[in-house]
Amino acid sequence: MRCPYCSSLDTQVKDSRPTEDAASIRRRRVCPDCGGRFTTFERVQLRELMVVKKSGRRMPFDRDKLQRSVEVALRKRPVETERIERLVNGIVRQLESLGEPEVSSDRIGELVMDGLKGLDHVAYVRFASVYRNFDEPKDFGALIGELSGEGAGLGQAKPVPAPRAKREPNKGGV
Ligand SMILES: [Zn+2]
Repeated sequence: MRCPYCSSLDTQVKDSRPTEDAASIRRRRVCPDCGGRFTTFERVQLRELMVVKKSGRRMPFDRDKLQRSVEVALRKRPVETERIERLVNGIVRQLESLGEPEVSSDRIGELVMDGLKGLDHVAYVRFASVYRNFDEPKDFGALIGELSGEGAGLGQAKPVPAPRAKREPNKGGV
């Protein structure tokens, strides 16, 4: 593993241990050339899983992309990175356990929504509003209705504008 500071190829592993959920191995490394310390994660590589989009287009499954969309939904929410990592690992494991070479982007979206529902309701509403492409306030009403059936922390789950609302028309763009 190349040193990120000085690019030396001669770095050494000082310590390696599984993460809390045992889905990855965390290695602490040190570079003998510059003394730099850094951490790497080792994870299982999914055999080529293809994602089928709504348009019918196929793309290789991209864990980082999944993680980014979860992080966008959770932006500024009081949720530890470790829990986000665990949520994403959980989704990936569920995809693996399907045992299929292909999975629809809808299926992944549903898994993310299930996960966020248990983690943070505000993030859940944000994600759902983008994912389901809500147009009407009543769509939010229906979603909040679904959530309130379960109790738990609804005080703040007002319709939060999605961080990347793609349905906003480009107002007055000249
Ligand atoms: Zn170095």
